This record gives sequence, structure tokens and C-alpha cells, in this order.
Amino acid sequence: MIMRIGINCGHTVSGKGCGAVGLINESEHTRLVGYALMELLKEAGVEVVDCTIDSAGTKQEYLEKAVITANTNELDLFISIHFNASASHTGHGVEIYTYKGQAYQEAEAVSRHIAQLGYKNRGIKAGDNLFVIRKTKAKAMLIEVCFCDNRKDVDIYQRTGGYRSIAQAVFNGVCGGGKGEKIQSEAVSETFEEFVGKIAGKDWRERRIVLPSIVVAQAMKESARGTSELAREANALFGIKKNGWTGKTYRKSATEQRKDGSFTTLEHVEWRAYDSFEESILDHNDYIATRSTDGGKTLRFGPVIGCTNYILAAQYLQECGYATAKDYAESLINDYIEKHNLTRFDDVTA
Ligand SMILES: [Zn+2]
Repeated sequence: MIMRIGINCGHTVSGKGCGAVGLINESEHTRLVGYALMELLKEAGVEVVDCTIDSAGTKQEYLEKAVITANTNELDLFISIHFNASASHTGHGVEIYTYKGQAYQEAEAVSRHIAQLGYKNRGIKAGDNLFVIRKTKAKAMLIEVCFCDNRKDVDIYQRTGGYRSIAQAVFNGVCGGGKGEKIQSEAVSETFEEFVGKIAGKDWRERRIVLPSIVVAQAMKESARGTSELAREANALFGIKKNGWTGKTYRKSATEQRKDGSFTTLEHVEWRAYDSFEESILDHNDYIATRSTDGGKTLRFGPVIGCTNYILAAQYLQECGYATAKDYAESLINDYIEKHNLTRFDDVTA
């Protein structure tokens, strides 16, 4: 059990030693994450030593002050929080630096928990050249949460709950499972739900195509709450095959259930790919509104369109062949809509 942890919110606030400025400001977000993390640790009964330095005359002075603060306290663990940046702005993912790249348990767990939010896991690297890693006496890790100058990473950061989710992920990694794990999965699912619910709700009010609770349940189920390969690589929350789509596509295999209940895998299936989750959600509704296999004479998902009853809408999706899985409708209703009270996104008044 870790008793005393030093937290360094990376960099000074401004001037000498301040952090990277990308789409978001590193110095600002290291503090948001770090102070939220300190609160979680204190609530869990861990003693926290704030090793944050807001201003210094030089970058070296900032680093030395942080290390002195860490070393004058007998710490069990020292954590420095940072956001990455790359010259081409194309770098993405989470990485952690430790002394000689030691993959000790807390470091591995932190990178895993952060990666679970949808970031690429770049792993644990040797941080011997980093002053705060080399000079601190306690076991130390420097977390590069994600790239603050990369659109994709910042999108993940914002839609998965920002600094709160990162603080929770670090806390879970450091303090282990149990209560923390539960808090995180609830926090993350709620923010994903809210994100999809807002877009689906607005589209429902404007176009009345698919009931929002259904859209949110489908997105949660089909994309594993925004963490599936299609979601990460193609911003696709629903797994809609190319089918006449003229936009970009992403190629991967597909698993389907045959009529006899057995499963089969199709290789090299082309899936619709998007620039954002929002585009994916709106295209999903377009697809339901327009999909036809007889040149437009009949709409394949006609009964789903405008249906205000989530149980019927889920059953119609299944009957109209939206998914091959036999328990698709039942799962949308039981595992998602009712379990997570998704009808709160439905505004069924005319
Ligand atoms: Zn930094």
C-alpha cells in the first residue's frame, strides 16, 4: 500500500519552464489533472505532497525546486504529469517514463488505464535523461498523458471527460482496482453517453429519424463506448459497411452470425470512416433514413424512422436486418437503455 505520494503538475504556469502550447495548454492541463488526482488520493486516505512549482527564474531552477520538494519528503512514489507534443503534430497516445524504463506495476497500470480511454498505448520508456526521474529518490514516473497538439488525442481527451477521467485513470493505476475501477467505468461511460446523447438528441429534434436512446445504446454497444478499432482508427461508432458510401473507408474483418446461430468471419470488409464521432452519428441516422435495397421503392428501416417507443424501435432494427446477432434488440434494451437509463435523452413530445 502506497502511503505518501508526491505529485508534480508539470512545468511552471508561464515564462521560464512553462509547457507546450498545442490545441490545449500543457501547463494548464497538468494542473487540472494533478489537482484532481490529489483530491482523489486524499479521499482514499493517501498522504499527498504537492511538488508543483508555479514559477521559476529558469527551467533548471523549476526542475531543481520540484526535486528538492520531492526529496525533502519521504515519498513512496513521485508522479510528474505532462502532455506531449511533436514537431509534425502527428504523434499520439500515452507514454510513461521511468528510471531505466522499469515497467513496475503502477507505471504499467497507469498507462493501461489511460489507454483504455481510447489513446494509443506507447508504453513505458527510459527516462534517465529527465531530471525529475534521475534526481528523485522515490520510485518515480513521468506521465505524458497524450499529445496536446494532436487533434485526435485532444478529441479523445475532451469527449472522455478531460482531466477528470485522466486523474481517475492515474488514481486507478496507482491505487489498484476495487472502488476506483468502478468509479472510472461509470465516469467514462457517462461522459460517452452524454456526448452521443447530445448529438443524437439534437438530430432527433431536427429530423426525427432514430430515437436518441436507441442511437446512444447502439453507439455504446457497437463501439465499446468509443474504444473499438473502428472508433479509434475510423471515428466510426456503428460499424456500417461501405454500401454505396463515397467517402473514405477503413478495412478490417467482420464477424457475423449465421441463421443457424454459428459465427463466421469475413476478411477485408470496407467500413465507412469519418472525420469525427459526430459525423458518424449523423451518417448513422442518414443511413437508417435512406437505406433501400430496391432502388428507393421501399425503405429498409421504414418502421424505425420516427418510432418513439424504444422497445419497438430496437425490435424493428433487428427485424429489418440491421445486425446479424440474434440477441441485438434484446441487448440494446436490457444491457444499455434500461440499465443506463438512456431514455433520459428521448424527447418524444411532438
Ligand atoms: Zn512537459
